[in-house]
Amino acid sequence: MHIATSARLSRFAVAFAATCLPVLAAAQFSLAPLPYPADALEPHIDKMTMEIHHGRHHGAAVNGLNAQVKTFPEIANQSLEATLGQVSKYGAAVRNNGGSHYNHDLFWKVMAPEGQRGKPSAALDAAITGNFGSLDEMKKRFDQAALGRFGSGWAWLIVTPEKKLAVTSTPNQDNPLMDLPEIQRGTPILGLDVWEHAYYLKYQNKRADYVTQWWNVVNWNEVSRRYEAATK
Ligand code: MN
Repeated sequence: MHIATSARLSRFAVAFAATCLPVLAAAQFSLAPLPYPADALEPHIDKMTMEIHHGRHHGAAVNGLNAQVKTFPEIANQSLEATLGQVSKYGAAVRNNGGSHYNHDLFWKVMAPEGQRGKPSAALDAAITGNFGSLDEMKKRFDQAALGRFGSGWAWLIVTPEKKLAVTSTPNQDNPLMDLPEIQRGTPILGLDVWEHAYYLKYQNKRADYVTQWWNVVNWNEVSRRYEAATK
């Protein structure tokens, strides 16, 4: 084959692959970039924690979930929420990696840099007051869930199937979408990661300090949006 033709063909092959691979890969899971720079939550959550937490911990979960597609091809063709809603039939690797992927994706989005955090919408504010008495009381219950979770897990504010708000917590990478008997089910609108990897570099063993500081970075605009979507 003529060299020029060969080069043209390989350029075509590269262009073809570049065009088609994202389509082939679209059914797989991917790690989205953080929605803000890794240092944007300083001083409450430090840059190195964010980089390691996102790139390595969340990244490993995405890889782990992709590895399950061979065993359970349908998880690539349905929403992650749908998979988690019937997670009991998929086994521990989907439960742990799929839960982790969902939980961390939510976690990055319910935090925001200064100036973009907003406050609870009128509808969310009314629901918080109606369910808990006040925002402070909701936070107190949430803190108890976060601090009372022994070992690794998450604290959640959820919309229940009856469209009420509730505070709950889950172990490991479980979440309220999962069809597991020990879980209070609902749609998460706010979640806090209380695994040590989420805070140990800056706060060491002082989980309570981390939880207190974390409230400063909550993205109420996003929590409100999720509340309204879950109650529509
Ligand atoms: Mn985490």
